[in-house]
Amino acid sequence: MIHNRRDFLQLSALAGAAALTTPLAGFAWPGQQKKLGIALIGLGGYATNQLAPALLQTQHIELRGIVTGTPSKIPVWVEKYKIPEKNIYNYDNFDKIADNKDIDVVYVVLPNSMHAEFTIRAAKAGKHVICEKPMSVSVKEGEAMIAACKKAGRQLAIGYRLHYDPFHLEMMRLSREKVFGEVKLVEASDGFRAGDPAQWRLHHALSGGGPLMDVGIYAIQGARYTIGLEPTYVTAQAFPKTDPQKFKDIEESLAWQLYFPNGAIANSFSTYITNVNRLYAAAEKGWFELNRAYGYKGQEGRTSQGPMQITPINQQAAHMDGVAKAILENRPNNVPGEEGLRDMKIIEAIYASMAAAGKKLKIG
Ligand code: NAD
Repeated sequence: MIHNRRDFLQLSALAGAAALTTPLAGFAWPGQQKKLGIALIGLGGYATNQLAPALLQTQHIELRGIVTGTPSKIPVWVEKYKIPEKNIYNYDNFDKIADNKDIDVVYVVLPNSMHAEFTIRAAKAGKHVICEKPMSVSVKEGEAMIAACKKAGRQLAIGYRLHYDPFHLEMMRLSREKVFGEVKLVEASDGFRAGDPAQWRLHHALSGGGPLMDVGIYAIQGARYTIGLEPTYVTAQAFPKTDPQKFKDIEESLAWQLYFPNGAIANSFSTYITNVNRLYAAAEKGWFELNRAYGYKGQEGRTSQGPMQITPINQQAAHMDGVAKAILENRPNNVPGEEGLRDMKIIEAIYASMAAAGKKLKIG
């Protein structure tokens, strides 16, 4: 909302700056802030059950397009979200989105091995990109995605919704402000029981790996932002498979340790055979934890002084609004491609250590 002449001038300047980098800069005239338009690629579980409903709550971005390989899904989306026919694409004609001024941002919600291709195609079409985690299935792909978005002058954001979640922001604050002294140990684990053996998550060609790629990445993230430094070394161990047939393509359970330059250690576990969902930090004078930690809701936080009093929010709406606001204000977002790439480097080092029987390896 415009309150005074200074706000007006700031908005006008922003609109001018944004117009240099975005075809639809989000501002019509002063006082009339337009929302960015987003298209979802891949109308699976996360897009259908979390992202699209969250886009009904966002202030800075709204659902205007879909990209799907399954035509039978289209009527439901058209009816529910009033998507015009001109904003509906399939994987083949997707590149034509370059000519569509309704769409400013493309959100890639496909199986992991498809992230790089569609991020790069979206960037070439002149769109900003939000790409789900893990950003790619290799460091090399992640670097190519960042380069493509840079070349196109568009933002790349990764689907790290927890960077906008108040429970995780509190974990970051407690560490950063050393409320309990310096964090010395993080125990972070994330796993669940993977049901359907036919799902893409269990097939390496589509997933790029097992629970580490899918949910272990949250434990890596949690360790990094709760210690507040970048790890330099890893060790990792695979566990014997209890169902070698179902998990023939990927690891079933694994553990790993991250070693930080100040001597702090993170010890983590990830699995597809049982539920675990925890982020615990031991500091010099106390501890703080989330348990449950990584879900869309149901977080519970405690410190050595008592429960955290935090009101939950819609993480997906906060994440997409946060990224949209950064685009509108022409400044970097909180979860850029480089953040995803750091995790990919750690993941590659974990797999390499696991393959080398737990040898201590330097990251990157
Ligand atoms: P899903 O299986 O429910 O949906 C996948 C979508 O991709 C479907 O619409 C499917 O039709 C489409 N698809 C296209 N080609 C495919 C192929 N060859 N094989 C299988 N599906 C194909 O998966 P999802 O749970 O929505 O996950 C999609 C992405 O979102 C993944 O990268 C996942 O890691 C990520 N994700 C993130 C969160 C989060 O909290 N940030 C949560 C869930 C999923």
